[in-house]
Amino acid sequence: MARIVMKFGGTSMAGTERIRRVARIVQRQQAAGHEVAVVVSAMAGETNRLVQFADEAQAIHDPAEYDVVVASGEQVTAGLLAMHLQSIGSKARSWLGWQLPVRTDDAHAKARIEGIDSDAVLASMAAGEIAVIPGFRGVSPQGRVTTLGRGGSDTSAVAVAAAVKADRCDIYTDVDGVYTTDPRIVAKAQKLKYVTYEEMLELASVGSKVLQTRSVSLAMKEGVRVQVLSSFIEDDAPAADTIPGTMIVSDEELEGIEMERQLITGIAADKNEAKITLTRIADRPGAVAQIFGPLAAANINVDMIIQNIAKDKGETDVTFTVPGADLARTQALLEAQKEAIGYYRMIADSKVAKISVVGVGMKSHAGVAATMFRSLADRGINIQAISTSEIKVSVLIDEDETELAVRVLHSAYELDAKDEAA
Ligand code: ADP
Ligand code: ASP
Ligand code: MG
Repeated sequence: MARIVMKFGGTSMAGTERIRRVARIVQRQQAAGHEVAVVVSAMAGETNRLVQFADEAQAIHDPAEYDVVVASGEQVTAGLLAMHLQSIGSKARSWLGWQLPVRTDDAHAKARIEGIDSDAVLASMAAGEIAVIPGFRGVSPQGRVTTLGRGGSDTSAVAVAAAVKADRCDIYTDVDGVYTTDPRIVAKAQKLKYVTYEEMLELASVGSKVLQTRSVSLAMKEGVRVQVLSSFIEDDAPAADTIPGTMIVSDEELEGIEMERQLITGIAADKNEAKITLTRIADRPGAVAQIFGPLAAANINVDMIIQNIAKDKGETDVTFTVPGADLARTQALLEAQKEAIGYYRMIADSKVAKISVVGVGMKSHAGVAATMFRSLADRGINIQAISTSEIKVSVLIDEDETELAVRVLHSAYELDAKDEAA
């Protein structure tokens, strides 16, 4: 017998028929002899709808009330799934915030989980009851509802799995695993049987939204075994215990499974970045600190940065990217600091995309970046900024060229699935 946490995303929970299918998947997992807890998302589109209502209510939200509104979609699906499970003969109940406290800090809309009081839910699972838990939400030290950031139900599921010491956390979604790139963009993307925590963390953080980034770092830290798999399956599909999806594994575990690692694991695109250039800044110590200090103080994450070499007059241009959602705030802050920084013009562009190639194989192979630059150049795609880490190279390009760039790179690194008919 194992203890399994199952998480179902928005598309899996969108409507009666789909929840009914989820109930059958959950019931089957319990019937295989396991203790089961389920974490659910709101129905697809519901959280967006709620965010829009909040936007219409207030230009600048009261963060605590915003969370009260946007967290509500998950309460509905938790209750509905418990009802569907009961109607097919399972014992099941929902667990809301005051029954299973998911304790977080008070950073509304992006709260971090501090702990989960899981004794009661463990007792109920041991008695054969299926626990259904709304994802995405927690409770602050002040006793207010918090949410964990968009896509946060993945993190809820991993946190519950860590708290109840689950043997596995299965993340059910609308694709049957993690692919070499978004299978909705590149039809020839290939499903990966395994991916390391480190690679998944990079892929998620550069735009592969199949898992929320924080869920991966939490799983890595807590040693939670995570599988990504599809909920769009027939009743006679292979059981989750046979690992039909993608398993996230440690480096050591992977070495024991695959002798030779692919150079590149995956390619991701992120259209949510915005680019800012400040022109003609004095080329002197402290000038750059003057720009990024206020942004850091305002909790704005700067990602790619380039500073051009000084021109004749000891002046330089600085270009960097921030999350698109923070662009207006960034512009306002820099406008207010214009005198202190001493730039000439501020140029903003939100029509950019960041394309990243990720793979642990990069650590031991040269030439990954060169292949990327050459392949993009051959298709006339201009690179506006570059950043690298040990296992990733990212470039910033025109947003309109996103799909083309992802396809070109997918072929260039020989990731395309072979055409079986050929
Ligand atoms: P859920 O509602 O189940 O949380 P999401 O929409 O958040 O689902 O995540 C699943 C989606 O992630 C897929 O539909 C797919 O389009 C996208 N995706 C992006 N990159 C990848 C990738 N490398 N592998 C698989 N799916 C990916
Ligand atoms: N419902 C939330 C969202 O849409 C959380 C999630 O689905 O993971 O962001
Ligand atoms: Mg998601």
